[in-house]
Amino acid sequence: MRARLTIDTEAVAANWRMLAATHGAPTGAVVKADGYGLGAAVVARALHAAGCRHFFVGQVEEGLALRPLLPGAAIVVLGGFCAAEAGAYSAHALMPALGEWGEVAAFGSHCRHVGRALPAFLHVDTGMNRLGLPLAEARARADTLHDLDLRCLMTHLVSSEAPEDGMNELQLQRFAAAREAFPGLPTSIANSSGIFLGPRFASDLARPGAALYGLNPTPGQPNPMRPTVRLTAPVLQLRDVPVGETVGYNATFTAARATRVATVGYGYADGYHRSASGRGWAVFDGARLPLIGRVSMDLLTFDATDAPALAVGDEVELLGPALPPDEAAGFLGTSGYEVLTSLGARAARIYRPL
Ligand SMILES: *Cc1c(COP(=O)(O)O)cnc(C)c1O
Repeated sequence: MRARLTIDTEAVAANWRMLAATHGAPTGAVVKADGYGLGAAVVARALHAAGCRHFFVGQVEEGLALRPLLPGAAIVVLGGFCAAEAGAYSAHALMPALGEWGEVAAFGSHCRHVGRALPAFLHVDTGMNRLGLPLAEARARADTLHDLDLRCLMTHLVSSEAPEDGMNELQLQRFAAAREAFPGLPTSIANSSGIFLGPRFASDLARPGAALYGLNPTPGQPNPMRPTVRLTAPVLQLRDVPVGETVGYNATFTAARATRVATVGYGYADGYHRSASGRGWAVFDGARLPLIGRVSMDLLTFDATDAPALAVGDEVELLGPALPPDEAAGFLGTSGYEVLTSLGARAARIYRPL
């Protein structure tokens, strides 16, 4: 009686092929945060088999775990260069995305220490103001970077999922100014949504994450991606609650009709945000069951009155093709990204087609 997270790695690979075809130029894969919660190792292997040769992780440890699985592929650490783990980059062929002058200096001295110029990406900031060298400084000091083995000049879009946002154009202009200072260096611009902003946002290497895992890169329009996950949890108990009785902690739900309550083995300790209390739903046999009462640590309660076929031991869908992560994000009070990275921590993982 355990929740199950089914993960369709073939759908992930198909999504990558679709994104690469749309980008019309080399396309990598962002597999940080355990492959957005799907399992970085399994996802990366499937993408490597599909032909992906550039992988982006957040931290050195993530890169080290993937290195043996990805022969011949580049692994870029988006978090940058961490001097305390310097040896890992050279020994395991991890490339930092350098985005700060202290990091650039530390990386340079590590290269001198090992006696060769190690490859790296250079991250320039064009508006995120988070990571990345400030644009004006990168231009002014470009010649100090010329002894590094730079492989790519990258920047990250702030609002790519909103095509009408003027920020996209501004970032493109700023990036063009950065490129002038690094003639001939390949570029990397688009994340998932950036791939759909049109050919001007194309570069030598796209970096999609979310869309690989089925999130909609074009919000407000039909989702062109295949769903990749289904999360189900078992019905532990069914009970008939008479009118006027309440359900769950603090009695936040009162039965206005005789209500059949399905208690399901899943809760906030599994990443189902408590903020969804009274707002969410589950799907059984095509019917939507409203979430009632508080989300508990290990339990959810649903109104199953209109699903008479539901029985103890059946599984309800908490996420899947019938209830996409982008939609669940609405009642979970977050984004599809966070839905993927938080759900499924305690679930049994099954890798097979949906
Ligand atoms: C996470 C990340 C991406 C992937 O973004 P998606 O919106 O998930 O496609 C690309 N580039 C950088 C620098 C990132 O941090």
